[in-house]
Amino acid sequence: MSDLRAAIIPVTPFQQNCTLLWSDETKKGAVIDPGGDLDRIREAIAQNGVTVEKILLTHGHIDHAGAAAELKDELGVSIEGPHEADRFLLDQLPETGRGYGIANARAVTPDRWLRDGDQVTIGDLTLDVLHCPGHSPGSVAFVAPTLHFAIVGDVLFKGSIGRTDLPGGDGAALIRSIRDKLLPLGDEVAFICGHGPTSTIGAERRTNPFLQGGER
Ligand SMILES: [Zn+2]
Ligand SMILES: [Zn+2]
Repeated sequence: MSDLRAAIIPVTPFQQNCTLLWSDETKKGAVIDPGGDLDRIREAIAQNGVTVEKILLTHGHIDHAGAAAELKDELGVSIEGPHEADRFLLDQLPETGRGYGIANARAVTPDRWLRDGDQVTIGDLTLDVLHCPGHSPGSVAFVAPTLHFAIVGDVLFKGSIGRTDLPGGDGAALIRSIRDKLLPLGDEVAFICGHGPTSTIGAERRTNPFLQGGER
């Protein structure tokens, strides 16, 4: 498998980590969570000479999905993810956008809903899909196990976890998702999260205050 490259593009007033992910060999890639600021996403695509094949969504929140429909139309690519449990969030994006002062957010209908155990491809790269409900009911993580790399959306952060006070949030489900799906990926797995700096599963297992105590 060829080298995986990633460029993080903070977008929207929420400084969401939109990620351009591509294969260095084929230059084929995907845009993950284009929440807004399409001019900056376009610039990163051009700078790195990436041919975008698809858009991936970790979940349906405005800062992750607000510009997905527009980018899809512009690039003529499909949208894969999140899990269908986030359909209500994607349907409501125009109203949610107005509530946050974000104009022009469009509702999103993915071309493919994802389920736990599915795989998505980007050029010659294959990512495993993990359904990780809790922050939102349809949140998914994308994992390249052999490359020890993951994109986890707003499920897990460096030193924190996703908020669960938004519609469909569930604190117990979030902890289960992290303990049962993400921690077993292994300490060496590095991940990009939806906001803030990157981390590794091992660092969070050892030091994340939300994951200490309990059965592990
Ligand atoms: Zn979110
Ligand atoms: Zn977010």
